[in-house]
Amino acid sequence: MSSWESYVRKVVPYVPGEQPQEQHMIKLNTNENPYPPAPGVIRALKEFDTDRLRLYPEPTCKVLVDAIAEYYGLKSSQVFVGVGSDDVLAMIFMTFFNSKTPVWFPDITYSFYDVWADMLRIPYEVKPLDENFQIVKEDYYGENGGVVFPNPNAPTGILMPLSEIEDIIQHNRNVIVVVDEAYIDFGGESALPLIEKYDNLLVVQTFSKSRSMAGMRIGYAMGNEKLIKYINDVKYSFNSYTMNQTALALGVEAIKDKAYFEETRQRVIATREWTKQELTKLGFSFGDSMSNFIFATHERVSAKELFEALKKEHIFVRYFSKERISNYLRISIGTKEEMEELIRFLKNYLQ
Ligand code: PMP
Repeated sequence: MSSWESYVRKVVPYVPGEQPQEQHMIKLNTNENPYPPAPGVIRALKEFDTDRLRLYPEPTCKVLVDAIAEYYGLKSSQVFVGVGSDDVLAMIFMTFFNSKTPVWFPDITYSFYDVWADMLRIPYEVKPLDENFQIVKEDYYGENGGVVFPNPNAPTGILMPLSEIEDIIQHNRNVIVVVDEAYIDFGGESALPLIEKYDNLLVVQTFSKSRSMAGMRIGYAMGNEKLIKYINDVKYSFNSYTMNQTALALGVEAIKDKAYFEETRQRVIATREWTKQELTKLGFSFGDSMSNFIFATHERVSAKELFEALKKEHIFVRYFSKERISNYLRISIGTKEEMEELIRFLKNYLQ
């Protein structure tokens, strides 16, 4: 090995879901929204003045921060925006998880958390979900370097009631608690109101799922002004211009259109509930998902076999070959027509 190689930061990277470039496929593998972004987003992109691309974007992201703050009734100083919630979460890990005591998160959860922790050399400890894939709140009592979990959890889709989240925060007043609400708009109750009560809470959300903007990369954190200032200090020490000109302009349009957001989110929820009924009829079981995906296992046929069979039909779902969940498929909610096609195929295959 050459000597420079001993100085390389060696990491096992996160593996994102496939983005196949097929013309005709049903893509249910990365929890994207099947509906287009709000009409205002499409209009703003068409009218975007490309001359503005000569200039650096405005580094504080004021227009977007203000629009998000206004939407939630917060002060702008309580909002931080980044390049998807992945970027926001990575900044949060960098800013707040510097203790020698391990950070805690569930064993089955968003598989980026351990990747960031390893890369940033943050010690961590995982807390096993119970046999029904529920987070056990008592597991989060005790000394730690910070707590992070999604609500609803991923890839299970299972929601924790707000009272239990508050209980976890109350038991962790000396560290930062991060609630990753990537999927909260599909039926959950947000922990956002608790940021006024707890100065150690950060709530992270994204435009990627409920606002149909995964390709634009916009995520945000909300919390106490002091926490937001600390994240901004780290951001400016890393990359001042995280958000590009189009993301800032189109993000404002996306958050403004409450009616379109409500309509599309209700459509996804209705399709999810229909899909749950159909999957049950076919012999699948799953936790009661409150997200835009269902994490299901079949009584007879292995998840791996179903994953391969679906792929041959150009129906993409997500499969994790990981302990405890290797017999589950994570199926994102598409349009009603896409889900009908999925169910039709499964019905035939499982006969
Ligand atoms: N948190 C969770 C739980 C997720 O599933 C995802 C999507 N992969 C993210 C955060 C990141 O989403 P984005 O960066 O697109 O906002």
